[in-house]
Amino acid sequence: MTKVNDCIFCKIANGDIPSAKVYEDDKVLAFLDLSQVTKGHTLVIPKKHEENIYELSEESVHAVFSAVPKISRALKAAYEPKGLNMLNNNGKDAGQSVFHYHVHLLPRYGKGDGFG
Ligand code: 5GP
Ligand code: ZN
Repeated sequence: MTKVNDCIFCKIANGDIPSAKVYEDDKVLAFLDLSQVTKGHTLVIPKKHEENIYELSEESVHAVFSAVPKISRALKAAYEPKGLNMLNNNGKDAGQSVFHYHVHLLPRYGKGDGFG
């Protein structure tokens, strides 16, 4: 696993910082977002440090996006949302604040659920 000092998501992937894990395999980790924009708001990351979509390796693309439907089904079963958004910010000006690639999964509950 590529590890970058001072990267908060590398520290989470390594277990140096605790997280509420939703899913894990050898290349991917999913955990609840600290800010919980909606209930069950989850981040899916490659364990390998890659900054954003421009750096994302084929290996990580495959690992992350083959895990996303499984994680989405687990969130659907756990939280019973009415829908789900998948989002990804790349670059500061696009709203990226943690520079380790991640996909946001946002379960949706209808008007006033905290997002949009
Ligand atoms: P971005 O703005 O880069 O797309 O999303 C970064 C997300 O990481 C934010 O939604 C923020 O709440 C979340 N986040 C930042 N630090 C931590 C942390 O230490 N633990 C968890 N679980 N989420 C974090
Ligand atoms: Zn990292």
